[in-house]
Amino acid sequence: MTLMRNSLILASAIAIAACTTTKTDVNMTTATEPTPAPAAAPANPLLGPWTGNYGGIPPFDQVKVEHFKPALEAAMAENLAEVDTIAKDPAPPTFENTIAALEKSGRTLDRVGSIFGVWSSTMSTDDFQPVELEMAPKLAEFSDKITQNEALFRRIEAVYNSPEKSKLTPEQQRLAWLYYTNFVRAGSRVDTAAKARMSTINQQLAELYTKFGQNVLADEKDRYVVLESEADLAGLPQSLRAGAAAAAEGKSLPGKWVISNTRSAIEPFLTYSDRRDLREKAWRMFVNRGDNGDAHDNNAIITDILRLRAERAKLLGYATHAHWRLENTMAKTPERALELMEAVWPPAVARVREEVADMQAVAGKEGAKIKIEPWDYRYYAEKVRKAKYDLDQNEVKQYLQLDKLREGIFWVAGELFNFKFTPVTNVPVYHPDVRVWEVTDRTTGRHIGLWYFDPYARAGKQSGAWMNAYRNQQRFDTDITTIVSNNANFVKGAPGEPLLISWDDATTMFHEFGHALHGLSSNVNYPSVSGTAVFRDYVEFPSQLLEHWLPTPEVLQRFAVHYKTGEPIPQSLVDRIKRASTFNEGFRTVEYLSSAIVDMRLHLAGDQKIDPDAFERQALAELGMPSEIVMRHRTPQFLHVFAGDGYSAGYYSYLWSDVLTADAAEAFQEAPGGFYDSEVAKKLRQSIFSVGNTVDPAEGYRAFRGRDPKIDALMRKRGFPVPTH
Ligand SMILES: [Zn+2]
Repeated sequence: MTLMRNSLILASAIAIAACTTTKTDVNMTTATEPTPAPAAAPANPLLGPWTGNYGGIPPFDQVKVEHFKPALEAAMAENLAEVDTIAKDPAPPTFENTIAALEKSGRTLDRVGSIFGVWSSTMSTDDFQPVELEMAPKLAEFSDKITQNEALFRRIEAVYNSPEKSKLTPEQQRLAWLYYTNFVRAGSRVDTAAKARMSTINQQLAELYTKFGQNVLADEKDRYVVLESEADLAGLPQSLRAGAAAAAEGKSLPGKWVISNTRSAIEPFLTYSDRRDLREKAWRMFVNRGDNGDAHDNNAIITDILRLRAERAKLLGYATHAHWRLENTMAKTPERALELMEAVWPPAVARVREEVADMQAVAGKEGAKIKIEPWDYRYYAEKVRKAKYDLDQNEVKQYLQLDKLREGIFWVAGELFNFKFTPVTNVPVYHPDVRVWEVTDRTTGRHIGLWYFDPYARAGKQSGAWMNAYRNQQRFDTDITTIVSNNANFVKGAPGEPLLISWDDATTMFHEFGHALHGLSSNVNYPSVSGTAVFRDYVEFPSQLLEHWLPTPEVLQRFAVHYKTGEPIPQSLVDRIKRASTFNEGFRTVEYLSSAIVDMRLHLAGDQKIDPDAFERQALAELGMPSEIVMRHRTPQFLHVFAGDGYSAGYYSYLWSDVLTADAAEAFQEAPGGFYDSEVAKKLRQSIFSVGNTVDPAEGYRAFRGRDPKIDALMRKRGFPVPTH
């Protein structure tokens, strides 16, 4: 397959990983030589076709780290040979012998890369990491060999420019356009010297991305806060204490408590700990990941990445890396993305001023003579939430059991998509925590795909939550169903007890499941335009939209049931949740937007040498960043942006998509059946979820909504004033 599909795959770890973290499409290698296999040794299990039920399943139970390097090398060689055959075909170029042939190629690499991506994002052990570091530049070099194959590009160009193109199906025409555009964007038209330089740059970047990700992972694993005594636990709810005790066991510190350096551990601690000194300590540890001036410091890596990206953009004929990245998005230009962000920034900051004033008042009432600092924000916000809305997150949490909510999202998928989820145990998994469900059509029983769920945090797993596609739906030659996964980092509770999660975490579950539904709904012919392989600033739209089903009474009454009594969540509590729905939106929007704006400015800065710390400080000062808030992802730990190209100059995508999301949610609100209106749901499936990248997203949206999206719904959703037109 070509770079395109390749990047789809490896990028699916990324792209799809859309969410909180991005895993880089990385790869690795072993430090040891690939030992020649003894004569009787079994063949490398990664290289064979996937066998078994459901159209074949990944052989996760047979994978050993030493398989990756030889499997990737063999699969790349096989793919290059396939591409060479296509490029040298004596027959005149046609869609079938060029584009469709490319779609058929690279299947082995698809499979190996897919499993490699799983290890990279969830099983990144000490023995895997050197393999990843060695293979990353080799995979980059491989991609360049394909996009720089001049004979191949001439054939693609000929198909794209042929008058015969108008006889192709719309999907085939779009696929031809996509190949042509991707090859041009990857440098197919630059001169030989520039091609050689590009290839060097891509290999260097691949290695830097891998190092960046591994450095963050190291700081998340090696640094933690130890709580020594009962006094250190002041304010922490029981579930948090239990998680911290289990984490301490894992660090061989029995009888103590450990707060890990990951978002899922730090944010609850900052919310509940009464110990301001410990909050500050935990906060500093977390926001300084990758920024400690030690062996895992990422600042020099960022400078190099930015310099290489700027040089590459120039070689390709673009003003900056941001201009290159945004060409193939809905926004099209950095200016349009910035325009949206700048429209939302002032009302968000104004809201922060109000939030801080409320918190300062609570602190004053308590007699705390403090100025609200970033390590105080979550703590006092929680107190304001209780005082203003009579809403206690711990009270809500009693009704949010992980397993019940999972049933809830299955139920929603049944109502909207007619999907049925059935647990299966005859499928190998890569870790005992992972469980698998078969997805079928509720009416016909037709097999749709498989859904893997990997819910818990563990060492070597990237923090955050994301979706990944192990295999894309397609049917242009044979009918292939999809395999998708959702990944999260819940802290495992005591054995046998239901795991209770926060409202935010429940929202994230619905979000990631939205990505999974996007993949599962795919109904296209060609793998490169399948499922979630859509524009970066569009891919968060289906996922963010699904978040809106959590607060529906239909879900809450059935699935938000008390973990002890089984009673559904009381209506009065639901009402209070609803009233507080835009609470703390100033904080949420500002911590996100500051990251998105810094990302864009870094990539518009061109080829000046950038000192990341200084740039970040200055950019935030110019923006008027409230001193009480820090960027959600500070530059030295910004995995979305520096562990791969995927979200670089692209973190704005969540806001862009949310304009569509909020507007689409109102389409349901306005319908007679509300969020379960069957007509609107049908349009959603037909125009958005099932079409992959076979239609332009702006057209797809228009087909769903009957008009272009408007920003007003976004402002209403966040509780900000709607601009006057
Ligand atoms: Zn997402």
